[in-house]
Amino acid sequence: MINMSETELAAMSFPGLHETLWDEREFLGWRDVQNYLFGYIVFWLDDKARGFMLRAAENQMPVGISAMCVICRTAQPAPQVSLFVAAKAGKAGQRGSTVGTYLCADLACPNLIRMASHRRSDSNGSLTLEAAQGRGMITRLQNFSERVLADIA
Ligand SMILES: [Zn+2]
Repeated sequence: MINMSETELAAMSFPGLHETLWDEREFLGWRDVQNYLFGYIVFWLDDKARGFMLRAAENQMPVGISAMCVICRTAQPAPQVSLFVAAKAGKAGQRGSTVGTYLCADLACPNLIRMASHRRSDSNGSLTLEAAQGRGMITRLQNFSERVLADIA
């Protein structure tokens, strides 16, 4: 985890077993069951797991508008998308520096794109579309994690 202190790591909740199957998912995202404002994302980067902690904004976005998750680019009714901030890694993070982004509130983009592609009933090419979306998600996650790691306020 690139932006967590020892204390935060000790307090982190782990996802249920049924959520940890890596099969068919580009990354693992979950909200903390103890403290729902916190969420975590872990993904693979060159055979190494990279993860970070996020904190959700306390105010939900207003009902009735639609919003888009930055990672899976799915437009959804606003309460299903939430503003999250990630503390930056290292000294910048200790000074309170964060990076923000809009994400699916449940951090379950890999499930969502699969549900969405199953809804498109003409399955012609939906597998490759899914794969392309998956690769795009990893790239955007990686870019976001680079912003967390970048030592600029
Ligand atoms: Zn999403």
